[in-house]
Amino acid sequence: MKTAYLGLGSNVGDRLEQLESAIKILDQADGVQVSQISPVYETEPVGYVEQPNFLNLCVEVKTTLTPQQLLQQCFYTEHQLHRVRDIRWGPRTLDVDILLYENEIIEEENLTVPHPRMRERAFVLTPLNDIATDVVEPHTQLSIGELVIPDDTVKKYKA
Ligand code: ATP
Ligand code: MG
Ligand code: MG
Repeated sequence: MKTAYLGLGSNVGDRLEQLESAIKILDQADGVQVSQISPVYETEPVGYVEQPNFLNLCVEVKTTLTPQQLLQQCFYTEHQLHRVRDIRWGPRTLDVDILLYENEIIEEENLTVPHPRMRERAFVLTPLNDIATDVVEPHTQLSIGELVIPDDTVKKYKA
């Protein structure tokens, strides 16, 4: 069993319901067990800012899937929640990203782990810190607790 951390986000439709469904779909997938769920945070969009606020959370999974298989499971889960891909960083019913997979560094054309933008994203680091504060990010060798940046645009929404 490998341990991985996933970041989930939603800013279209019933955001909380969609995040909860996504966790169920992930947990029911063969070879994936959701072992920890962070609180939910409401966060202001970054990058493409003219869109509704997001709800974000992170989960820990125990998995027998390879990183590529886990990525396919992330896409499948997004598809089940009717994600339509149009604007990059635009509104979406569900985004599921692989943040960390063990302490592996993966650079493949369709998959970069650790997630390339996680270190600058309070909306990722804040929920991740709640479930993985002592987990070490392999590029910096710093723990999530050391990397997390306080940010008042990331607000606790549901415990
Ligand atoms: P961001 O990557 O900045 O969070 P996004 O999640 O909105 O943006 P998507 O449209 O969900 O981006 O995915 C774009 C591509 O990113 C996917 O086709 C996927 O192959 C690739 N990708 C690379 N690394 C990862 C990763 N660690 N987790 C999920 N997708 C990844
Ligand atoms: Mg993303
Ligand atoms: Mg994504």
